[in-house]
Amino acid sequence: MMKQKINVIGGGFSGMTLAWQLAKKGFPVALYEKQNRLGGVIQTRLNDFGQAESAANGIMLSDDVLELFSDIGFSPVSTKSESNKRYIYRDKPKQWPLKIFESLFLLVRLVKVLIFGKKSIEPRSHQTIAEWSNQHFSSALTEFLLAPALQGIYAGDAHKMSATLILGPFFKNKKKRQSKQKGMVSGANGMEELIQKLAERLQALGVSIHLGQEVNSDQLSGPSVISTSVREAQAMLKEKNPAVSSKLEKIETAPIVTVTTYWKSFPQIYRGFGVLLPQAYQFQTLGILMNSFIYPFRDKFCAETYILGGPLRSSVIDWSDEKVLEKIQEERFKILGEKTELVSQVITRWPDGLPQYNVSLEKVLASLELPENIFLHGNYLGQIGLTKILSRSKELAEVLALKYH
Ligand SMILES: Cc1cc2nc3c(=O)[nH]c(=O)nc-3n(C[C@H](O)[C@H](O)[C@H](O)COP(=O)(O)OP(=O)(O)OC[C@H]3O[C@@H](n4cnc5c(N)ncnc54)[C@H](O)[C@@H]3O)c2cc1C
Repeated sequence: MMKQKINVIGGGFSGMTLAWQLAKKGFPVALYEKQNRLGGVIQTRLNDFGQAESAANGIMLSDDVLELFSDIGFSPVSTKSESNKRYIYRDKPKQWPLKIFESLFLLVRLVKVLIFGKKSIEPRSHQTIAEWSNQHFSSALTEFLLAPALQGIYAGDAHKMSATLILGPFFKNKKKRQSKQKGMVSGANGMEELIQKLAERLQALGVSIHLGQEVNSDQLSGPSVISTSVREAQAMLKEKNPAVSSKLEKIETAPIVTVTTYWKSFPQIYRGFGVLLPQAYQFQTLGILMNSFIYPFRDKFCAETYILGGPLRSSVIDWSDEKVLEKIQEERFKILGEKTELVSQVITRWPDGLPQYNVSLEKVLASLELPENIFLHGNYLGQIGLTKILSRSKELAEVLALKYH
C-alpha cells in the first residue's frame, strides 16, 4: 500500500535530512523551499582568495553523520593537526585560561564530583549555566572557560542560558555508543558540497523538491513538518495556530555577523583552530576561526572568520561594512598582536542568526502542544549543531513512520 505523503516545509539542513530519512523509509515526500536553492543558512561562496562560509564551517562526526556521508557519497575533509590548538583569551590567547590556584580549586571540585557521582551536580530546572557553574565549580570556570566555549557554539549569554537544555543530555543515563570517528569535517569545496550531495540523493530517492515556493502548512494536505527558523515558523502559524505562534514568539534569537577575512600574512605566534573571547574583555568579536589552519589546501591568503553579535553585542547587525572592518582590524591587533594588510573580506549578516538556549526556551519547549498533523523541526528544538539536528531528523522520521505507516 502507498504510504501517506509528508510535506516538509523548509529546505535547510533540518528539512533536507528529514526528507532524506523519510524517503529512505519509503514515504512520498514533498520538500518546499522558498528560496531558489537548498541549504538554508549553509552556503559556501568561492572567491579569488579562497572560500567563505556564511554559517556552519563544519559538522562534527557521529555514527549518524558517517551513515549520511556514505549514503549520499560525500567525501569529508578532516581538519589539520595544527587545529588541535584552541585558544581562549585571558590577557592573551591561552590554551588553558585558568590560573594555577583556579585550576587547583577546579581539581578539588572535580574530585568531589568523582566521589559523589555526576547526579550530585545535575542542573535544576530553570537554572542558568552561570548559576550552575558558580554553584558547583567557580566563577573563574564560568567566565573564562564555560561561557566562552558555549558562546562559540550558541552565541549565548551564560547568565541566561538554560543549564538543563545545554547540559541535560550529559546527565541522562542512556548509554552512549561511541562513534567510530570523531572530530569536525567539511567538504573540499566547503559545506555547500554536502548540501549538493544531499540534494542529489533526495532527487534520486524521488523527493519532489519545490524551489522558490513559500508555502504555509494550512495550504497543504496531509501531515506537514515545518522545518524553518523559529521566526519563520512563528509567522507561518500566526493565523491558524495563534497559541503555538505566540509561544514560539517567546523564544529569543540573537543577531550574528560573520566576516571571513583574507590577510596578507599568517599570524606569527598564534596558529590553531581559533580564539574565543570572554565577555569580560568587551570585545565585539565573540570568536575567531583560523580557517587556514583548520582545513587543508583552501585559501590563497591567511583566512580568518570573525563571528560578531550575540545577545550582548546585538547592535553590530546595524553597523556599516566600514565600521565592522575597522573594529575587526583593531581587535585583531589587540587579540593576536598582528597588524598586516586586510586583502579582502566577505560579510554575512543574520538578523535572527541563532535561537537563544535560554531558560525562556526551556519553558516554551516544556509547554509546546502542536495541532494534529503539524510537526516542528529546526535548530530551536533541542540542539543547534548539524550533528544533533541530523539525530533529531532520524528520531522525528521514526515518530512519523509510526504514526503514518
Ligand atoms: C553563523 C553560524 C555559524 C554556524 N556554525 C555551525 C558549525 O560550524 N557547525 C554546526 O554544526 N552548526 C553551525 N551552525 C548552526 C547550523 O548551521 C544551523 O543550526 C542549521 O544550518 C539550521 O538549519 P535549519 O534547516 O534548521 O534552518 P535554516 O537553514 O534557516 O533553513 C530553513 C529554510 O526554510 C526556508 N523557509 C522558511 N520559510 C519557508 C516557507 N514558508 N516556505 C518554504 N520554505 C521556507 C528558508 O528559506 C530556509 O532555507 C551555525 C549557524 C550560524 C548562523
